[in-house]
Amino acid sequence: MRVKILGSAAGGGFPQWNCACTNCRRLRDGSLLGTSRTQTELAWSAVPGEWNLLNASPDLRTQIESTSELWPRDGRESPIRDVVLPSAELDQVLGLSLLREFHSFRVHATPSVRKILTEDNSLFGVLARFSGQVNWQDIPLDQPFSVGGARFEALSLPGSFPGFVSASRQTELNPQDAVIGLLISPDSQVNSGEDSSQRTLAFLPGVGCVSDTLLGTLQNCDILLFDGTFWSDDEPLRIPGITRTARQMGHLPLSGPGGSLELFATLRRPRKIFIHINNTNPILDEESREYRMVREAGWEVAHDGMELTL
Ligand SMILES: [Zn+2]
Repeated sequence: MRVKILGSAAGGGFPQWNCACTNCRRLRDGSLLGTSRTQTELAWSAVPGEWNLLNASPDLRTQIESTSELWPRDGRESPIRDVVLPSAELDQVLGLSLLREFHSFRVHATPSVRKILTEDNSLFGVLARFSGQVNWQDIPLDQPFSVGGARFEALSLPGSFPGFVSASRQTELNPQDAVIGLLISPDSQVNSGEDSSQRTLAFLPGVGCVSDTLLGTLQNCDILLFDGTFWSDDEPLRIPGITRTARQMGHLPLSGPGGSLELFATLRRPRKIFIHINNTNPILDEESREYRMVREAGWEVAHDGMELTL
């Protein structure tokens, strides 16, 4: 099973259009050792010729054009079959609107996320212009489910619905549906003959705190793609307009007591990769002390175009 990281940045991308922080400014003037990144997006293929998406990034059009496996083959026959959404955050769903153009596909989301997108936002009516255009599938929180030759398990994470969802609407929704992490492994029934013995990738781009149960689950993974949004808890407070800490925004910082570097120091089995990296995070500068600390702790920093095998 092939997994491609099409985008590795947090919302806004790197550089961000309205940002002249040290990282964005230095990337633009060519003085930063590092690369630009689009907003987080994964593609996977477990069946030859068929591809599926995890997230629907606002940068999806560019990401598809940068990835020849995702190009249409004949006429308008796209290899993209299924899209799995971990939340209703804009940087994870806006790309759905880019998949219109009379293409039929399936979207997998928790019931609450489906309601937000299909009942509260007329914009997504572009995905219901003909019968069978988009087939919505509910993600169960209590049992594994299959998508495109892969076996998925949803992990309900502490987190909230996006700020654009009204308070009254939120009372009608299941809070456990708001943010999920995903465990992905090749589906042994589909991939009979391949060595698919429990190889598992964990995708958790937005995690505010890690319980002992979650830590135990992640210990048994082979690849961990984890929230790399902010280096420090107070980093977002330095961004004009933001009044919440990283943890309050639902992102465990990398550094400091209880940060992900400390928390996962004993995790030996998984290949550990930070993803969903905000443009203010100093690890984007490959000459920084913080980047060196991350690498010395055994972590990698995801970049667009990175390929993984499960
Ligand atoms: Zn910036």
